Amino acid sequence: MELTPNQVRLMMLQVADAIIEAEPMLSQADRDLGDGDHGLGMKRGMEEVKAKLEPLDAASVEQVFVTTGSAMMSSMGGASGALFGTVYRAGGKAVTGRESLDAEGLSLFLQAALEGVMKRGGAKPGDKTMIDALAPAADKAKEVASQPLPEALTAIVAAAEAGVEASKAMIAQFGRAKTLGEACLGFPDAGALSVTIMLKTMLAFVKAD
Ligand code: ADP
Ligand code: MG
Repeated sequence: MELTPNQVRLMMLQVADAIIEAEPMLSQADRDLGDGDHGLGMKRGMEEVKAKLEPLDAASVEQVFVTTGSAMMSSMGGASGALFGTVYRAGGKAVTGRESLDAEGLSLFLQAALEGVMKRGGAKPGDKTMIDALAPAADKAKEVASQPLPEALTAIVAAAEAGVEASKAMIAQFGRAKTLGEACLGFPDAGALSVTIMLKTMLAFVKAD
């Protein structure tokens, strides 16, 4: 199974709706550890993504992802605007020239997204950021790159969820949560939750498709 550029566009519109719907949960997660603005920032970003993707005549997979990243980057602000913008822009550039998205393409996307975020933000696995969902997802994606997309995404989502769970036991090294020290134990990272919601929604899309 492979997704055409238009199917990737429809999938990203579904991702946008899922993040908008999760706003209260994401806001709460960032209130527990940060300044509480993550949910509203992501919601604002996803509304801009919808505005840009709804009228788009999708010509390539890359274009859909890069448009998504640019919309987030220009509308969100904050650490996560630049970082989630990078996820989709760097990820999108890694699938340049591909006419459809399969598990191999998704693996290239996630690997480039991870490298882009690490380069831009300076965090690494274990620092209690979105990287703690993105890195296990990218690693798993490499392992399952030859599988059909629904099977691959099932494994990738499980890896990201395990990463969110593991982030509860981490002490934050970035953002406002850094000042909390051990007080952040027990809470998952908000950005890692966002990554996982995105991947879960992609899985739901490819299963329904
Ligand atoms: P802000 O930190 O500006 O309030 P948000 O609340 O929208 O931005 O996003 C916070 C999330 O951004 C964190 O939960 C974390 O996942 C992610 N994040 C923050 N700094 C970094 C970083 N240096 N590298 C990767 N992710 C980061
Ligand atoms: Mg915040």
